[in-house]
Amino acid sequence: WDGNTVAVVTGGNKGIGFEAARMLAEQGLTTVVTARNEELGKQAAAKIQEAAPDSRVLFHQLDISDPASIDRFVTWLREQLGGLTILINNAGFAYKGSIFGADEAQVTLGTNYFGTRELTEKLIPLLRGPSRIVNVSSRAGSRSIVKSSALLSRLTSATSPQQLDSLAGEFVGAIRVGDYKDKGWPESMYGISKLLLSLWTAQLAEQLKGEKVMVNAMCPGWCRTDMSSQVSEGSAWRLLSIFNTSNYARHQERGGGCRHGGVAGASQP
Ligand code: NDP
Repeated sequence: WDGNTVAVVTGGNKGIGFEAARMLAEQGLTTVVTARNEELGKQAAAKIQEAAPDSRVLFHQLDISDPASIDRFVTWLREQLGGLTILINNAGFAYKGSIFGADEAQVTLGTNYFGTRELTEKLIPLLRGPSRIVNVSSRAGSRSIVKSSALLSRLTSATSPQQLDSLAGEFVGAIRVGDYKDKGWPESMYGISKLLLSLWTAQLAEQLKGEKVMVNAMCPGWCRTDMSSQVSEGSAWRLLSIFNTSNYARHQERGGGCRHGGVAGASQP
């Protein structure tokens, strides 16, 4: 990989996305920092450029829950850079505290699952050469959160995004009606959004088999960011380890990963 390698990071203005973008830029890649807030995104890109003066760091606005914003970004990327090699779908959203409701579930799933999927599907035709897609998911979305084996089986046996979309609709509908627990859904909008993201990632990997595109979903472990209310500690090393084994080795030398869970008073991201 070199300066001709284009890496796109969503939600790059802070947290794990910022660190991932910085590390990619420091490795000499052309790094596209995206953020929904233009001002914050430009500030982050400038900081990353400062940290990696020999690399090309670009910024473009991108709100993954806004189809018009996705279209503007995809057009810009095609016209300005001709495509991309690495896509890090880092942007993610979680309500704080015990907020739980159908409208809120729509927002959470709309960002973490539907938005990530829409962006990725529109960028796949622009992937150049052997490429990577990393979907930042979470162990909060592990299969064990689903309390009904029949429901879990329907989720895990889904073979198309449309089937997952329909199950997403059932989750939101069950919250609205109030019988989500009876149906085996957990009280975790974030968890279901990440479970859907991971299940769809597996479908995508299958779909792209033989296309020289490596597709992964991963959990960065607990990291101290705004999402985890700045509690605990961690790093973006595990994220990078997905596509750079030498970095992973260095990470292990430094003592390894993020601390998981066990933090009183913070929700599990
Ligand atoms: P932060 O809250 O610090 O960062 C989240 C980023 O996503 C921000 O840049 C935010 O933008 C952006 N974002 C949210 N919604 C949208 C949207 N609609 N369009 C574009 N960008 C959006 O959280 P983290 O850095 O911790 O999280 C990064 C990823 O890692 C997330 O997917 C999260 O679920 C996942 N994760 C985090 C863990 C942790 O311990 N921190 C553990 C497991 C997974 P803005 O600043 O405008 O809100």
